[in-house]
Amino acid sequence: MRHNVCGKLLLTMMVLVMVSPSWAASGDPSWNYKNQSWAEIKDSISTQPVPLNYPYGTCGIGSSQAPVNITGSASTARLNRPTPRYIPGTPIFYNTGYSVQVNTEEGYLGSVAIGNDIYPLIQFHFHSPSEHTFDGKHFDAELHFVNIREDGKAAVMTSLISVGAFNAEFQKVLDNVPTTAGQKNSTSGVRLNPNLLLPKNRRQFFTYAGSLTTPPCAEGVNFYIFTQPITISSDQLAALKKLYDNNNRNTQPLNGRVLTSAKTGGMGR
Ligand SMILES: [Zn+2]
Repeated sequence: MRHNVCGKLLLTMMVLVMVSPSWAASGDPSWNYKNQSWAEIKDSISTQPVPLNYPYGTCGIGSSQAPVNITGSASTARLNRPTPRYIPGTPIFYNTGYSVQVNTEEGYLGSVAIGNDIYPLIQFHFHSPSEHTFDGKHFDAELHFVNIREDGKAAVMTSLISVGAFNAEFQKVLDNVPTTAGQKNSTSGVRLNPNLLLPKNRRQFFTYAGSLTTPPCAEGVNFYIFTQPITISSDQLAALKKLYDNNNRNTQPLNGRVLTSAKTGGMGR
């Protein structure tokens, strides 16, 4: 299966994404959300021949890219529900230069179970407005829980975010993330419970095979998008947007992929 073949590579790239932001003096070339022709970005330092000197080529030629627009025509099936087994931790708050991100600390044991597969939680981050759209419409924001197995297979669980009630757990993220791009806060000691950033009702979700939504856009990432949104207050949304606004990738063609909707749950609690 393709997911396993590219697993190691994907893991390597995800680690690179986490440690090599664009503004760094060396490493991957910079990119931005204004011009999303990421596949055309050439690595000017690299002496590698074409196409290897286009490190984000997958963003353009990949056929299973994310995010996508979700419509009512998704097929319905009984599926294994993603079952979060997250636990509170003392994470690292990271301003990546592209988003507000929370990295789990070393030794963190929280994970998500999908069928017999266990995916440890590596980090979660925010996009605003949402990356996935529903009949073309955005939610106010979207939270991506990035869960990666040792073999590199990844499952991204998504909480859609609407303006509504104040979210105390999200406020901890806002209060502790550095305001300067590239900086990490690993000494806050703040205890954060990722479960409190998931919707209570997780029986309805959409799933499909996608990709990282940032360069290098590596594929082999399964998305699980819960339809019940979580809420943050309008002040909290404004604070998030003050850090990063419009950090959403445009929706990508499905190219024959099937979006599956689970409405009745299935396995899992
Ligand atoms: Zn994301």
